[in-house]
Amino acid sequence: MVIMMGIDEGDIALIRRVALKNAVEHDGKARVDKVTAKIIAIRPDLRVGVKALIPTIKEVVEEINRLSIDEQKSELDAIEHVMGEGRVEAKADLAEAERKGFTLPPLPNAVMGSVVTRFPPEPNGYPHIGHAKAVIIDEEYARMYKGRFILRFDDTNPAKEKREYYDAILDGLRWLSVKPDLIKNTSDDIELLYRYAERLIEVDGAYVCTCKPEIIKRNRASGIECMCRSLSKEENMERWRKMFNEYRQNQAILRFRGDMKSTNTVMRDPTLFRIIEHEHPLKGHRYRVWPTYDFAASIEDSIDGVTHALRSKEYELRNELYYAILDRLGMRRPMVLEFSRLEFEGMPVSKRRIVPLIEKGLVMGWDDPRLPTLAALRRRGIRPEAIREFVLSLGFTKADTKPPFEMLEAINRKVIDADAIRLFMVRRDDCIRLKVEGLEQSPDMGREDGYGYADSHGSKKGRTALVRIRNHPTNDALGTREVRVGDTFYIPLSDVRDAIGREVRLIDLYNVMIERMEHTDDGGDGDGDRDGPVVYGRFTGYEVKYVKKVQWVSVDDAINGIVLVPKQLYIDDSYNRESLETVHAYMESYAGKVAVGSMVQFVRFGFCRVDASGIFIMSHK
Ligand SMILES: [Zn+2]
Repeated sequence: MVIMMGIDEGDIALIRRVALKNAVEHDGKARVDKVTAKIIAIRPDLRVGVKALIPTIKEVVEEINRLSIDEQKSELDAIEHVMGEGRVEAKADLAEAERKGFTLPPLPNAVMGSVVTRFPPEPNGYPHIGHAKAVIIDEEYARMYKGRFILRFDDTNPAKEKREYYDAILDGLRWLSVKPDLIKNTSDDIELLYRYAERLIEVDGAYVCTCKPEIIKRNRASGIECMCRSLSKEENMERWRKMFNEYRQNQAILRFRGDMKSTNTVMRDPTLFRIIEHEHPLKGHRYRVWPTYDFAASIEDSIDGVTHALRSKEYELRNELYYAILDRLGMRRPMVLEFSRLEFEGMPVSKRRIVPLIEKGLVMGWDDPRLPTLAALRRRGIRPEAIREFVLSLGFTKADTKPPFEMLEAINRKVIDADAIRLFMVRRDDCIRLKVEGLEQSPDMGREDGYGYADSHGSKKGRTALVRIRNHPTNDALGTREVRVGDTFYIPLSDVRDAIGREVRLIDLYNVMIERMEHTDDGGDGDGDRDGPVVYGRFTGYEVKYVKKVQWVSVDDAINGIVLVPKQLYIDDSYNRESLETVHAYMESYAGKVAVGSMVQFVRFGFCRVDASGIFIMSHK
């Protein structure tokens, strides 16, 4: 092959992978235009100068189209195996992240030893990937500058908060190995916050408004001041006291004296305190006057000694108010910095989208593997160290990030690959029985690949033997397992449908010449059950050969298992009814013995986490 100027080996390898994939997906014929489009999607930097690439793409595509589809599949398998069976796209994204480096940029005005950051979640839901980003960046900066990191529950809206959510947040942070230097609750400071409110009234920085909520809303929209604004300090103090015992919910609020004509509508006399007659998960009915996030966050940050208040970009317009409250009270200003929100395409993080799904039973709960909550990612088999690496690889960007989930998968694959036991399974919707004839009966066959038969004996079902198989191709610490094999196996129908007359290799076992398929007419429904069609093959030897590899489950060692395969939850803003696939499969019996919570890799299927005995959740390919 001619290597053109400016195209490096990495590019050629990328073209080859993409072309192979395209060929395999389209009956062995890759198309130059499709391959080109895919390459640009993966590597936008190649868009400029793509013309120069096309002759090479053409050459590669022609070369690949001359191969048989089996050859294409084998090569693609081999490449994907080397790449940890990763998706080409995800790897490209990962490479991009690696180029960027994983360190955060320096913080402005940071002094070594005195940086204080904080993570202020409201305990009104389960923590998700967006929280993970915030908390990891907060903690990393505190460590980077040998400073302090505070976890502060901003729990001042009792109607929305629950004990369960405090625990879920603590649990999620523990899982991420985030260790705050101080954990506190804003609700512990309520009385202190009342004193600051009174000080603000004293300096004429706030007033109590008793207008109806809809009037307030209308006035705010049109920039009109209400009569309450012109009351004296004394009258405001009087009204403020009445908020604690006389006014009912929605009858009075404490408002910041901002600017009703401000172009930033946040500054149009926003609410600082309101009456919420609802039991608080920690404080019970002790308080009824509760500060808003705007008031509580700025005061708390200031009194907690926070130097750098990091928050997501959606609060950008509120920064003016944050500083204005502190200025009016003459308090120290932390520096507010924004970062972009993080969520995945088709996996919304907002409670507004998630809660209805839980209520309608469309997902299993907060830890449903289709959700982006930490509990869900954990249940799915995503590892906390992968999340940390992923977050840091994205860095401290202000631009909105909606990276594909595959990017996290690619990092996770690297983390779990060495510890995931390799097992075989055959989907029941793509399954046929293979009966092997002419099998050498000697149990002592001197296998080249280091595996061997532990014993062999006759049984009711016929002659079976115990085969010892390694649990991992390179990590010997994962040990071996014994599988009882006779002469009948479940194998994927798609692997042998076109293989009559060809030799295949039962992975880690032996080679078989596929000879014929017999369709039984006793009601077989083709799903691989006992009365379906059978493919017959002839034993041809043990030596490792470069022929098509077929995974198998011995009929004498099979259990029925289930794999739940999470898919994109939302497609174009609507709930995807096919977002959770249930795969029924024959699995080797060892699959039923792996401890709950462990990771396995079903060969040629994907990585899965054991959710319960015989039930798996697919993490990713
Ligand atoms: Zn008013």
